[in-house]
Amino acid sequence: MKRPSSAYVRTRSESQPRLILVSNRLPLSFKRENGKLQTVPSSGGLIGALEPILKEHGGVWVGSAGTEDSAELHQALHTAAGSHSFRYAPIILSAQEEANYYEGFSNEVLWPLFHDLQSRGVFDPVYWDFYQRVNRKFADAVDDIAGERDLIWVHDYQLMQVGRALRERRPDAFLSFFLHIPFPSPDMFGKLPWRREVLEGLLDYDFVGLQTARDQRNLVACIRAWIPEARISGRGDQRIVSTSHGVTCIRDVPISIDFRDFAGAAAQPAIAERARQIRTQSPDMVIALGIDRLDYTKGIPERLRALRAFFRGYPQFRRKLTLIQVVVPSRENIQGYKELRSEIESLVSSTNGEFSEPGWTPIQYMNRSVPRCELLALYRAAGIALVTPLKDGMNLVAKEYCAAHIENDGVLILSEFAGAMAELHNGAISVHPYDEIGICLALQRALEMPAAESRRRMLRMRRTIRENDVLRWRDRIFEQMEQAQPRIKLAA
Ligand code: UDP
Repeated sequence: MKRPSSAYVRTRSESQPRLILVSNRLPLSFKRENGKLQTVPSSGGLIGALEPILKEHGGVWVGSAGTEDSAELHQALHTAAGSHSFRYAPIILSAQEEANYYEGFSNEVLWPLFHDLQSRGVFDPVYWDFYQRVNRKFADAVDDIAGERDLIWVHDYQLMQVGRALRERRPDAFLSFFLHIPFPSPDMFGKLPWRREVLEGLLDYDFVGLQTARDQRNLVACIRAWIPEARISGRGDQRIVSTSHGVTCIRDVPISIDFRDFAGAAAQPAIAERARQIRTQSPDMVIALGIDRLDYTKGIPERLRALRAFFRGYPQFRRKLTLIQVVVPSRENIQGYKELRSEIESLVSSTNGEFSEPGWTPIQYMNRSVPRCELLALYRAAGIALVTPLKDGMNLVAKEYCAAHIENDGVLILSEFAGAMAELHNGAISVHPYDEIGICLALQRALEMPAAESRRRMLRMRRTIRENDVLRWRDRIFEQMEQAQPRIKLAA
């Protein structure tokens, strides 16, 4: 099998292997306005982490660009790549593929199950059929594009079977995979009728990266349960799984943010001024901030119910705290997400109806994405970040909040089920996202926390994030891929 050259990581030239990144979506989307195709850059954790890597090293980003297939689209992608040494390779999906592979299997089966919300799963065999077909379609595209020495790096739960389809064609390629969402425990994963096939697909990769030790433990336990013939060795954060098909190295490598870039941007005078303006709009009040994509895993209704309980049970804090809750629209074609939005809006409205007074609105709600400069100002203005997902692979908002707090103030209230907790337990107030009383107590603690304590906590968290930023994630993961290769040779 091919060894990814260390030179690959550090230099770039025509003769070097390229990086072939594969993800469900390209980091751009398109919309037609007055008949003209408009390019809209997308955002999010995966894109923020991967785009700089591709720009630095060159290569190809393979991903879906929606259902449009026109010369205009290809031209727009070419223009978007600009003079960079990388290009975008679009996968065009039919409406039926989009509905069954993406909205169906990815988001109605894997997404809820991998976040421990099995009862939301719709285990339709047609979805599974489309999932495999579309994963093969991605593999076909990669097979056409990738040179023999290129490093193929597939991302996330929508594409777990791409390795399987590629391995049939390229037995010697080095195939790497990173899962951005949690991996569930065997009790949960076992509910998937196609559990063995999914695990076998993952074992067709040479390297599987996961966010946390919890996810690595879970994946290894699932392999033990459903692939009993697999031999598992290694310890700590590295496990080697051998089957008759080959050897896979499984490691946990938590993803992160570009700390210096974030902190530098937050320090700009215009951001400081905007943060000051936001604070003066709520005088004598602490701003608590929630920033989430619209998703039931983010625990938004649970958080809003806890806040309502807080204002009911702790009247002394009325007029002292206001929540700014940003909900970024997402997956709007799925019925459950429409219902979630209605539930959130009804809770916001009933809480504001119950407690608002002239000069105080308990919850300021925004149902839209906010530009980066406004996001930075919101982070800086907020004395508390309320990050309470029911389960989350990582949660970059928690890290961004800390990075933006350049004055080392602010309190992070963080769910114990967010991947970020594995690193930020040294400073965050930990909460159980379903525990209303616990969230009330955490809010009280945050509001009453002496400045010296919140400073100590914030300093610790900021140091952790600075030392383990996205550049370190990249270096660690490339190093680990390199380390994986000789072991594979030895074991084969
Ligand atoms: N974000 C954004 N626009 C917004 C709000 C948030 O680009 O209006 C970004 C935010 O800065 C963060 C990402 O979206 O980088 C959310 O990442 P996270 O890991 O917290 O959750 P995900 O949405 O990936 O599940």
